[in-house]
Amino acid sequence: MTDCLFCRMVAGEIPADVVHETDRVLAFRDINPQAPTHVLVIPKEHHRNVGALAAADPGLLGEVVSGAHAVAVGEGLVAGDGNEPGYRVVTNTGPQAGQSVDHLHLHVLGGRDLGWPPG
Ligand code: IMP
Repeated sequence: MTDCLFCRMVAGEIPADVVHETDRVLAFRDINPQAPTHVLVIPKEHHRNVGALAAADPGLLGEVVSGAHAVAVGEGLVAGDGNEPGYRVVTNTGPQAGQSVDHLHLHVLGGRDLGWPPG
């Protein structure tokens, strides 16, 4: 989609601080980080939100989740076996949840104590 910010980042039209990439998944640092590690993991193909991708291509959703874990390992948030210090994966869907970009993205957050529940 030409009017989608994240599609334009996938196309290289807008710069992205890429930390992880596969054929179908891209991960880049959030421009307004909310934690020492704050990375967004997206499918390169445009899907509006997690439900839309789950319906269209559950395998790709699995690749996005695997990408989130790979980012966490790469950022030193887990040893690779799920051990400390840990990280959080969040995806906002719809305006009441605060979704501001309508291209599915998983937020990977870590590097500090994370409060629960989120606001
Ligand atoms: P949402 O509010 O859950 O949809 O998350 C959108 C995220 O995209 C926010 O955390 C923004 O800071 C982030 N964001 C917006 N524009 C850019 C950009 O150009 N580069 C990287 N992250 C961005």
